[in-house]
Amino acid sequence: MKIRDVEAIYIRSASVKDQCDSGQDALIVRVTTDAGITGIGEVDSSPVAAQGAILGPYSHTLTTGLRHLLIGEDPFRTEYLWDKMYRGNLYSGRFGIGVHAMSGIDIALWDIKGKALQMPIWRLLGGGFHKKIKCYASVLWETTPEKTYARAAQLRDRGFEAVKFGWGPMGQDAENDVRMVAEARQGLGAKADLMIDAGLVWDAKTAIQRARAFAEYNPFWLEEPLMPGDYAGYRKLSNSTDLRIAAGEEESGRETFQRLIVEGDVDVVQVDLTRCGGFTEGMKIASMADSYAKKVANHGFTTYINVAAALHFLNSIPNSIVAEYVAQDHDGNDLRDRITKQRVLARDGYLEMPQEPGLGLELDDDAIAEMRVS
Ligand SMILES: [Mg+2]
Repeated sequence: MKIRDVEAIYIRSASVKDQCDSGQDALIVRVTTDAGITGIGEVDSSPVAAQGAILGPYSHTLTTGLRHLLIGEDPFRTEYLWDKMYRGNLYSGRFGIGVHAMSGIDIALWDIKGKALQMPIWRLLGGGFHKKIKCYASVLWETTPEKTYARAAQLRDRGFEAVKFGWGPMGQDAENDVRMVAEARQGLGAKADLMIDAGLVWDAKTAIQRARAFAEYNPFWLEEPLMPGDYAGYRKLSNSTDLRIAAGEEESGRETFQRLIVEGDVDVVQVDLTRCGGFTEGMKIASMADSYAKKVANHGFTTYINVAAALHFLNSIPNSIVAEYVAQDHDGNDLRDRITKQRVLARDGYLEMPQEPGLGLELDDDAIAEMRVS
């Protein structure tokens, strides 16, 4: 089997908000083969920049559009092709957009392998740790503590045993920060897991103060309180509290994850399959995390391609802790709900492991054509 083409399709919702709780645009990767099998993947990045990284021409041995490197290759050679793409962009793509673009391609290649062998990707990766995995409802903080209480109670009533609130207004006012957490806990009840996603708002000392103040509300983890490169701050924070510290969604490629794990000493490593380098790199990151006794969760708030990739991944590693699940009420994110023919939905706070070959998803070509920008 040989790769015939690699497409990078930029799609965008008709309406776009300033602070969003799920994907409003996406870069979809489609890899076609001479055997009639097509694989799909997603890149969560700056979509047009990542599109350029894929579709760009050969410039020289250390900077080349990824498509150019893949045409005519055997899609089963995922390890070899990852290395070829990485080496082909050594100064332009070792982190960030270059690795993001590789992620979508790597996911599509594993989708092809699964479809060719009629197996879900988690079986190819040797997994099978879960029949279903607990997921947390991932939402944004409401604007006030009172509204946060109501939202927490509503999500508990929907059957979620774990809920994460994220980003603003956390970080604007010390007293309000604590009230938001207190009301979230009140709304969820004593038993449910409460995750706090601070959204990169503090320095280490402030984060230590907040961790101390939040402790009585028993959060499951405190996520991304610091800027992503502040590995020394993460270590200081992590070593000063018994709250779990979670981070990783800004990282790409195993070298930066290594710094987060070894220098930052965080407890939960959050891996986004559409940014980290795909399955091929994600498995290495999870293995590295496991060797430092760290847990792994997925990150993802975009399409069901991301959610499905995360499930195959979490089902293939021994140190998965919980799955992130964007718990909108299906109130009109037409991009996520329309571009694949299948939805990956939580039931009673759990996500079932996919059983179909490959990722287990097909694109809806009509919806893609309607939302396609370039
Ligand atoms: Mg986050």
